Amino acid sequence: MTNNLVIGGGIAGIVTAIELLDGGQSVVLIDRDSRERFGGLALWAFGGMALVGTPEQKKYRIPDSPELALEDWIRFGELGPDDHWPRAWAECYVRDCRVWVYDWVKSLGMKFMPAVNWVERGSAIKGNSVARYHLLWGTGKELVMNLITRLMNHPNGDRLTVLHEHRAIGLIVRDGKVSGCDGVDEASGRSFVVEAENTIVATGGINGSVEQVRRHWPQHWPEAPARILNGAHPYASGEIHHSAAEHGVRLTHLQNMWNYAAGIPHPQADFDDHGLSLIPCKSGLWLSPDGEAVGAAPMVTGYDTRELCRQVAEHPYTWQVLNWKIVARELAISGSEHNPRIVNHQLIRFLFETLTGNDRLVRQMVSESTEFITANTVEELAGKMNGLSGEKRIDAARLKARVEEYDAVLSDSRRWEKDPQISRIQHLREWRGDALRTCNLQAIGDRKAGPLLAIRLHFISRKSLGGIQTDLQGRALDTAEQVVPGLYAVGEAAGFGGGGISGKRSLEGTFLSGCILTARKTAAAILQE
Ligand SMILES: Cc1cc2nc3c(=O)[nH]c(=O)nc-3n(C[C@H](O)[C@H](O)[C@H](O)COP(=O)(O)OP(=O)(O)OC[C@H]3O[C@@H](n4cnc5c(N)ncnc54)[C@H](O)[C@@H]3O)c2cc1C
Repeated sequence: MTNNLVIGGGIAGIVTAIELLDGGQSVVLIDRDSRERFGGLALWAFGGMALVGTPEQKKYRIPDSPELALEDWIRFGELGPDDHWPRAWAECYVRDCRVWVYDWVKSLGMKFMPAVNWVERGSAIKGNSVARYHLLWGTGKELVMNLITRLMNHPNGDRLTVLHEHRAIGLIVRDGKVSGCDGVDEASGRSFVVEAENTIVATGGINGSVEQVRRHWPQHWPEAPARILNGAHPYASGEIHHSAAEHGVRLTHLQNMWNYAAGIPHPQADFDDHGLSLIPCKSGLWLSPDGEAVGAAPMVTGYDTRELCRQVAEHPYTWQVLNWKIVARELAISGSEHNPRIVNHQLIRFLFETLTGNDRLVRQMVSESTEFITANTVEELAGKMNGLSGEKRIDAARLKARVEEYDAVLSDSRRWEKDPQISRIQHLREWRGDALRTCNLQAIGDRKAGPLLAIRLHFISRKSLGGIQTDLQGRALDTAEQVVPGLYAVGEAAGFGGGGISGKRSLEGTFLSGCILTARKTAAAILQE
């Protein structure tokens, strides 16, 4: 029997395993995925982290503190008085992320980029009061590769067994204690059993299953769109969550999800409905399939991602209509795959593309993705939009009138204040980081900024904000809030702490860091026991 069984080889499972080995314990880590994809979602992650009280914040005189961050966190997530464990983890996060995440990540030899970004500022509910989104040089990919190297070359490596393509199916419970799992070796088809003193669930969230996303769709939202792209891990389906629930474990806040409003099918899809999440441009028109404005609120990213999702969910798909100059300046794609300058630490090229526009990315998307359409006139664009959708819902004359109206407002400074989208663009541009990535009131019909572009967008799933309820030692709790002996949960499987540390909304960039924090705290608690 091993001391510890870690189920799941994403960043949460890997960090837990490293820390337990550091403490001299034996570990069996099983992961359903292949050896090449060891590392889970972190391999694709951008590497943004919400951190509090860092030297980077001090350098830019950003007045942050754990108290301020906690206020922002609880208000924005709408955490209620009954959210005891999510609140306890939120307090732990804001207090300890500097030492347990920031300092620890730097101790691995990793660096953060010198700028701090201001994301999720909030809309009806205020979000981040200050900038705290730190971006890792090398992205999540370099971080998790660094950790895999440490794990596989660990000085206590003789106490480690890593089994790839091993799928856990159910937890084993003996005499009221969880004592391992059974499953299938998907390479050979043979079944297996691992017995352990402690079983740590690190299987990610549930949003890798579109069926689960639909099942836990937020109440009072418009009905889920017919097509939802999958932007999470295809094995993050909640299989072990549900086995745990069968043994009395409490799953909470599964209706809280961190999805995104602007997905496109991945041009090199790895699995069914694999999607890419675009960070949507701010200076375009965001339109329904009929070419009408989407939602009542201004559809500008950087304020309230959940609200954007709610608005686009009213439609089977939406459009952004803009021009090349806007897209080159403002488009980004979340993740390591489309950010080679950050992955490869190419600072000069990164700055050049930020300052002059990322034509490379636009060219790539126009050539690889069917969802990016270019045209020289609005009439041609409308025709191509109808061609892509197979529906004749875009009326060229109406679209032209919309573009002209938007451009007319831009050219008349007296009308700026009353236009919520333009006000937000101006508000964003007051922050240096956003000024670099946001056009200065760019007209869409401006011929010098052409050609015109339309991008068709779908709702895309990403992170589960809920999961297995845990206490501050990472111990799974049952429906009566009693500890379930032998069982722990870390990372996204635990809703990044307590079964839902973020409530309804994340301050953004609380996921990789939440995985590291829950993994390290849980391993420390196990070692202390
Ligand atoms: C494109 C992209 C960009 C992102 N950018 C950011 C960012 O900038 N900042 C941020 O904070 N977060 C970001 N995230 C989210 C973040 O990467 C994840 O929330 C985090 O990596 C989850 O880690 P995890 O270890 O909990 O789960 P996962 O990475 O999902 O790993 C779970 C592992 O469990 C395995 N598994 C599942 N079921 C079983 C089973 N039954 N048996 C055995 N193994 C199983 C899977 O194979 C997988 O390897 C991003 C995600 C994506 C996809």
